Amino acid sequence: MSAIQKQDQKIYEAIEREKKRQAEGIELIPSENYTSEAVMEACGSILTNKYSEGYPGKRYYGGQENIDTIENLAIDRAKQLFGAEHVNVQPYSGSPANTAIYFALLEFGDTVMGLKLEHGGHITHGLPIAFSGKAYNFVQYEVDLETGRIDMDKVRKLALESKPKMIVAGYTAYPRDIEWKRFKEIADEVGAITMADISHTAGLIATGVLESPVPYFDVVMTTTHKTLRGPRGAIILCKEKFAKDIDRAVFPGLQGGPHENAIAGKAVAFHEAMRPEFKEYAEQIKKNAHHLAEELKKHDFKLISDGTDTHLMLVDLTNKNVTGKQAQEALDTVGITLNKNTIPGEPRSPFDPSGIRLGTPAVTTRGMKESEMEKIADWINKVISNIEDTDLHKQIKEEVKEMCLKFPVPGIKI
Ligand SMILES: *Cc1c(COP(=O)(O)O)cnc(C)c1O
Repeated sequence: MSAIQKQDQKIYEAIEREKKRQAEGIELIPSENYTSEAVMEACGSILTNKYSEGYPGKRYYGGQENIDTIENLAIDRAKQLFGAEHVNVQPYSGSPANTAIYFALLEFGDTVMGLKLEHGGHITHGLPIAFSGKAYNFVQYEVDLETGRIDMDKVRKLALESKPKMIVAGYTAYPRDIEWKRFKEIADEVGAITMADISHTAGLIATGVLESPVPYFDVVMTTTHKTLRGPRGAIILCKEKFAKDIDRAVFPGLQGGPHENAIAGKAVAFHEAMRPEFKEYAEQIKKNAHHLAEELKKHDFKLISDGTDTHLMLVDLTNKNVTGKQAQEALDTVGITLNKNTIPGEPRSPFDPSGIRLGTPAVTTRGMKESEMEKIADWINKVISNIEDTDLHKQIKEEVKEMCLKFPVPGIKI
């Protein structure tokens, strides 16, 4: 960081403060993670200098011999990791990847089924004010308010009624296993294309900790920066028959030059994810989430669906007389970071909803295990039960920091 320190003090200092925040606090936002130093080296490399519109072997600019090597490695590794027939590694992030899939396989105005945002869906799955909701006729399925789980009979009924051209499964705030095979059967009944968005769970799916949709689904996409622990970005996997349409939609349909520094970072991350240690890591994410959920329940927290099968949980704070926003802000002051979240059937506003969402990918990267989950649940309980006790919050902040410094973050030396 010596060059930036010399020439741009303001940015340098903000990065240094952010390093300290990341090292001294507990990161529970389930979509976040700490990527490896090797991935960061690739992302911060001279590859950022290169333009490479097109695909390996078919570029619009010269000087591509090394870029093609890198992009081909990223493609081959992703194919191997997920068992996919075809992979596009160029999407800048998850939202552009989803937009490219819709652009490739749908006409504007076509009917698509996606999970409602406040039931755990993503903004790119048909939120009315988002591009997806404006360009396509999204009909939204829901979770059962009693069980917190997707009712597949209702999904089937809605599919038979609305005859969608595509069904989207895979979510942002859904803590349970997804019945991929059942989705595929329903889609086949109505002749719909199946699209899985495994942005949150890709690391668990790549290692077999959760079931993969790849054998069943026509198209599967994921971000690379969540449980997969790679750089910010996304990839699209699909059956060979959709390959041309997907590639054309990404470039030149939606994007120009791919970010080859990020693609190199993806290749490095896929390599890491194929190692046996990564499978152990993914298993520990799930164990930690399960343990954290059970500990929170002991403190009388109400979990949507009463637990988790994945890396994340959604907590309804109504019985604690605290809103999601109050909880997020109080926990922020002690160095515990999570996000306020709507719950299924949300009676409040999305800016101050009834719930919080939390997960274990980042803390597991630091090597935290079940005993640390117990401490975390205890601190969360103390803060939420004493939401205005700032003396107690100060004391907890010190305890949090002391524990965190025993678990280094990759790439941060304090
Ligand atoms: C995170 C996420 C995305 C979008 O990813 P960005 O990189 O933030 O654009 C898409 N779908 C789901 C389900 C996600 O969780």
